[in-house]
Formats: sequence, structure tokens, C-alpha cells
Amino acid sequence: MSKKIYLYGNWKMNMTRPETEGFFKAFAAELAAPELSAAVGKTLEVAVFPPFTSVVTAKNSADSLNKAIAPIVGAQNVYFEQSGAFTGEVSIPMLKDAGASHVILGHSERRVIFGESDELIAKKVKAALSADLIPVFCYGETLQEREGDKTSDVVKRQISALGGLSSEELKKIIYAYEPVWAIGTGKSATSAEAQEVCALSKKLIEGLGAAGPVVVLYGGSVKPDNAKEILSMDAIDGALVGGASLKADSFLKIYKSYAGI
Ligand code: PEP
Repeated sequence: MSKKIYLYGNWKMNMTRPETEGFFKAFAAELAAPELSAAVGKTLEVAVFPPFTSVVTAKNSADSLNKAIAPIVGAQNVYFEQSGAFTGEVSIPMLKDAGASHVILGHSERRVIFGESDELIAKKVKAALSADLIPVFCYGETLQEREGDKTSDVVKRQISALGGLSSEELKKIIYAYEPVWAIGTGKSATSAEAQEVCALSKKLIEGLGAAGPVVVLYGGSVKPDNAKEILSMDAIDGALVGGASLKADSFLKIYKSYAGI
């Protein structure tokens, strides 16, 4: 139980500024527990990804906490161009100015609802890395693809879209395997299914030439009651959590249930 756990919360299109402040208040109260505060920054890395409008509030709230327990603040999307006529988009310099250090890219909701292609996502990943914004690169198969025995092919295709990156760039990315059928459905992958694809992912990323071991998270209906089994798998370094990350107590309970505290 000594491995480092990455606990990343994707708030999706939730959390106004007052709700964000409320989250951080509750987060600080939870972190008053010594077993938990002792873990943060050592065996636990916490990050939250608010909607754009709450990134500054989240960063200010994080900065007002003791540095040792403050979570990382990221965003949920970014465009690859620096500035200009791209109505509705937000640039990397803007995100950095708002205080984000990480950005989720390739989430299945962006791929499926907004039609983002592997090529576009790869451009965004490259642009983020060039500006020292850490991408949390999401990928995973649909239910139809899993049932058609296409999981490995799909994951291979999605990961190989990153083939133009350098070894160091590949190493900096946080990878998140998120089977589409498990996101927001309450139906998590079994720990064995998640382990199998996360292990395959590590092989594929290594095959692209990553400079050393990479971090691979699992995402899809992770909750306090299934966290221990999933996070105990050796190819899984942490969880990208949607629904259960909106409240500080259920979010942190995911780590607590893994660590037995
Ligand atoms: C997600 O949106 O990345 C996610 C994993 O959602 P949920 O935990 O709600 O399935």
C-alpha cells in the first residue's frame, strides 16, 4: 500500500464560484485529519479540474490553504492556438494566467459530444506540453467497441496519435484510461478489466519511446466503495473521478478507502 496515488477530480460542467469556495472549505476541514494531511504531497497527489469560470476561484482557494495540502488546479479543455479569432475557445496562456497547471484533453465527452478527433487532441497535447501545461490525456473504448472485441485496437489508435511527441514529452503526460461505457453510468470496469488495459497502455506508451515509467489513471464510476480494489491494481496509479469528486468528503473517501484510514 505504499505506492503514490493520483486522485484527480473532473468537475465537468458543475460548480459555480461559490460552490467551488464551498468545496475548498470542506476540503480543508477534511484535511485537518492528520492521516490524510500526512499523505498529501507524499503518497497522495490531489488535483481538481473546475469549469473555466471557476478556475481562478479554485486557484485562489488553493493558494489560501497551507501549501502542503493544497490541491493542483487544472482545466478541462484548451485550444491549441495562442490567440485570435476562435470564438468560444480558451488559449493556453489564458489558462496559465488563470492559475491552471494541468489540463484534461481527449475526454470522451469532448470526443463524442463535440466531435474531437485524435488529430485535434494530439495538437492540443503538443501545444500544452510546449507551454509546460501538463496534459491529462484521456482515452478509452465505447461499449460497442468493447463488445466487438476492439478495445485494444481502439486504445492503440488513440495512444499512437501521440507518436510525434518526444520521449520527455510522453513521460510528462498523465494518462487516463476511461472506458466510455463506465463514465457517469455507475458501471465501473472490473479491477481486472481496468488493470489489463492500463498495463497494455503502459506497454504502448513505452513502445512510443517514453523516457521512463508513465502515470496511468483509471476513470469511470470510481467511488469510495470500489476504490480499494481498483487502486490496488499494480498498473493503475490513481483515479480520474467525475461525479464523486464534487464533494470533498466523497472525493477524499476514495483515497481513504484505498489506504484504510
Ligand atoms: C470522468 O468524467 O472523467 C469520470 C470518470 O466520470 P465518473 O467518475 O462520474 O464516471
